[in-house]
Amino acid sequence: MSFFVFVMGGVMSSLGKGIASASIGTLLQSRGFSIKMKKLDPYINVDPGTMSPYKHGEVFVMEDGCETDLDFGHYERFIDIKCSAEDSLTTGKVYEKVLEKERRGDYLGSDIQVIPHITNEIKDFIIEGSSDVDFTICEMGGTIGDIEGLPYIEALRQLIVEFGKEKVICIALTYLPYIKVSEELKTKPTQHSIKQLQSMGVQPDIILCRSEKNLTEDIKAKLSMFCNVKKENVIVALDANNIYLIPKMFHKNGLDRQIYSHFKLLGESAELKATKDIEEKWGSIENTILNCTNTVRLSIVGKYIKLKDAYISLSQAIMHGGFANNTKVEVDWIDSEDNFTNIENKLSQTSALIVPGGFSSRGVEGKIFAIKYARENKLPFLGICLGMQLAIIESCRNIAKINATSGEFGEEGEFVIDFMDSWACGDTTEKRNKACNKGGTMRLGSYPCKIIPNSLASKVYGQNVITERHRHRYEVNIKKYKHIFEKAGLIFSGTSLDGALPEIVERQDNPFFIATQAHPEFKSRPFSPHPLFSHLIKASLEFLGN
Ligand code: GLN
Repeated sequence: MSFFVFVMGGVMSSLGKGIASASIGTLLQSRGFSIKMKKLDPYINVDPGTMSPYKHGEVFVMEDGCETDLDFGHYERFIDIKCSAEDSLTTGKVYEKVLEKERRGDYLGSDIQVIPHITNEIKDFIIEGSSDVDFTICEMGGTIGDIEGLPYIEALRQLIVEFGKEKVICIALTYLPYIKVSEELKTKPTQHSIKQLQSMGVQPDIILCRSEKNLTEDIKAKLSMFCNVKKENVIVALDANNIYLIPKMFHKNGLDRQIYSHFKLLGESAELKATKDIEEKWGSIENTILNCTNTVRLSIVGKYIKLKDAYISLSQAIMHGGFANNTKVEVDWIDSEDNFTNIENKLSQTSALIVPGGFSSRGVEGKIFAIKYARENKLPFLGICLGMQLAIIESCRNIAKINATSGEFGEEGEFVIDFMDSWACGDTTEKRNKACNKGGTMRLGSYPCKIIPNSLASKVYGQNVITERHRHRYEVNIKKYKHIFEKAGLIFSGTSLDGALPEIVERQDNPFFIATQAHPEFKSRPFSPHPLFSHLIKASLEFLGN
């Protein structure tokens, strides 16, 4: 059985538990340990697929099509692993399972209770698959004290009793507010939060203190005493300018060392090797971040721009594309509902455009306007999912001169993008039904795509067959509008393996105009930037004349 690392958050949300967990993962990996990342989300939704990106941030899609929390994006990017549906648990899923068992009569007539039935289900999830790895890292969603989180803390308490602290470590990420006028870091919110955790029977072993200032020895001593944690286990997590600077900073502050010390895994030569590895790997990213020689400005025209987390994988993939070109990319977030003059003004000051994924008709006219601007002004353009559908609509409207639209927008017009109830996938036919619930009508997860030779796509990918992750309901209606697409100058340079579904489209009248039905941003990594993003940044440097 593995060691278990639990990461929970106190004082408030948005402290970066996902990034902290991912950083711990990469540090343990550097010492040669195999790891599994799991996330326990106390919300009652079965998955975040139906949650608004405005409130919850992006829905991250795994290879297997599981729609999940954005933290899985951090895990995959930092640790370069592929997570799966089995790694993600929500209260909705727990209840779904328990109620299914109850209906089947599995509980033999007993009354179903939070303890033990719900907590057992949570524990089973945590333990499942743990014997295959050295470490299981479990991030607990929510904040200590949330009502929804209570069964999770209780399950953790029981696990500690069952396995002992020699197998389990609890890390609480908290926040120390800094009061400017008195120049003081305050520990009281952390003290209260940890007391609350203790009152539920769980004693943290490490307190990771998110703070804008370094901790004095006095503050560490105070937190150590009031929170019942060793002084060397009170560790600062300073605000960082870039999330990829965090693993190295955590290592420098001794976080991984204290984890090894807790599990009695200290070993000088293994640690020295790990330090060298971390220095090399994360130090090289640090160098790139600090020493970029170029800067480009890139526009994103989207609907959810008020909450940057709604496009987190996209922003990360853009940054990775910058790493590949030694370039700092400044992003200009343009509201697709802004007026056309403002959109045009902003576009004229940048050297690339991305129109990302999205749902419903709100703001689509602004996006179509932006795509037209990019096409006519030879601005490098990358369309993603809805961005590809709109690129097709734009060319059909403005070049082939038809009243093109998508079935999603529910208007009159030619549905060049439309709902498809079935499509071939290998030897089987996948079906979907418009009348079934919202979560069930999407094409989700990884699909292969055949690339046409001598296309921009083949230059970018350098491969004949690729796979990308999908999350959409609508498809290009090539059966009905093939002749119109040809007239509009659209080239389908990537298709499903049987050629039936267009997956990538490009234009030849702009040196870099490419759009994909998939979400390439989910597969980009800091150490292996996705080629669509590195080529987009390269094209934007060329657009600038660099
Ligand atoms: N709304 C479009 C569809 O469902 C695009 C989805 C997306 O961009 N992820 O097909």
